[in-house]
Amino acid sequence: MVRQTSIQTYHKIMDDGLLSLRRGEVYEVLFRIGPATASEVFNEYLKTYGKRISTNGSGSRLSELRDCGVVQELGTKACSITGHNVILWDVTDQLPVKPKKSKTEFRYWCDECDRSFDNPLDHDGFEDEYCSGILTQWRKVK
Ligand SMILES: [Zn+2]
Repeated sequence: MVRQTSIQTYHKIMDDGLLSLRRGEVYEVLFRIGPATASEVFNEYLKTYGKRISTNGSGSRLSELRDCGVVQELGTKACSITGHNVILWDVTDQLPVKPKKSKTEFRYWCDECDRSFDNPLDHDGFEDEYCSGILTQWRKVK
């Protein structure tokens, strides 16, 4: 199996601090020992950094790294530690991208005319109808 990663990508990520500290540590471990399971990463992480991340924790760290595009799921294998058939992870040769996150935005709402607006100025300009309603700001989660 040819690993997709490149040493240049690795150094770029580490030297420029493109990942948060903890994610960078997990990435470093996977770069070194991958392809590997979450438990294998966890064990190596403990050896390297003397800190524990729970197996679930390392799994979710890996998921976060996947969402950034720097880690991928290669498939599954029987974990050398737990014996369970689990996801096999490895680094990619990609630089991290910002994961798409749900965006919270404000909209304005008028009870009087029962309409909502991104821009409060749109309220006044609506089909030249004058509305005396007072806008309330509310949160819309996308
Ligand atoms: Zn109105």
